[in-house]
Amino acid sequence: MHLPKAELHLHIEGTLEPELAFALAERNGVTLPYASTEELRAAYEFDDLQSFLDLYYALMAVLRTEEDFAELADAYLARAAAQGVRHAEIFFDPQAHTARGVPIGTVIEGLGRALERSEESHGVSTRLILCFLRDLSAESALGTLDAARPYLHRISAVGLDSAEVGHPPAKFREVYEAATALGLRKVAHAGEEGPPEYIREALDVLGVERIDHGLRCMEDPELVARLVADRVPLTLCPLSNVRLRTVDRLADHPLPAMLAAGLHCTVNSDDPAYFGGYAGDNFDAVREALALGPEQLRTLARNSFEAAFLDDDEERRARYLAEVEAYTFD
Ligand SMILES: [Zn+2]
Repeated sequence: MHLPKAELHLHIEGTLEPELAFALAERNGVTLPYASTEELRAAYEFDDLQSFLDLYYALMAVLRTEEDFAELADAYLARAAAQGVRHAEIFFDPQAHTARGVPIGTVIEGLGRALERSEESHGVSTRLILCFLRDLSAESALGTLDAARPYLHRISAVGLDSAEVGHPPAKFREVYEAATALGLRKVAHAGEEGPPEYIREALDVLGVERIDHGLRCMEDPELVARLVADRVPLTLCPLSNVRLRTVDRLADHPLPAMLAAGLHCTVNSDDPAYFGGYAGDNFDAVREALALGPEQLRTLARNSFEAAFLDDDEERRARYLAEVEAYTFD
């Protein structure tokens, strides 16, 4: 769907399509344990979180140079633009790369190179969000933020991702305080697999401004009331929820109930190469499976721009919002 929208929940490592993975593997002399793009494409049909993570981390081995990261981001931005994305706030996981011996500067400068030419190349404005892997230690997160200091001009916010259960937000209090002191905005994954309490902790202990996923708030009416009253944006990823079995079928997704409750929902793609589609595909899928009407779809798009970190460019936000109002559905 070409409805103008902002993508607010997108892991750049999760946009690596099989064709690019093979091209980069060849260029960098990395041997992938797959004979062909077809065989690799078949591996993308995983059926649980662990097989997804195994594949996800195995394929990262092909990303070595600044040029690799720039190509990855450029390919995503081209796809996103073709599906109506006008603004993208992009997550990256520096620890997944530094652990393989790739310097953080290579990652950030490579991504930054693609992002800084994105408006001209694709008509998409961008922000970059540095995420900490929550299954690693708080010390590792602090070290990562420290290593990113020379590149802060390229970074708008920090986030928290990877395996949620057993790694509550409070574990990262100190690094979020440090990020606040550096003037960075804050988001965190919470309430995808973890309990509603993790959403509260992300708000109260980490001071986040948006919750990534947040689905499980629906188990806690008091929390829902608070999220509505404070207009806390939730970055939902419907196709991801189905692939990772957070919901059984898209038709069971709580999005309509969440919208009806007045929650500030947005629709995003998470790891689109792996989860069956980009932002526009997610909009198409929920429109079909949940019978969302034009006004609900328009609300989702409006919400995405309202939740975007565009406070330093309100003129642009207003322009995007006007595009949403002017859009005609087919
Ligand atoms: Zn995510």
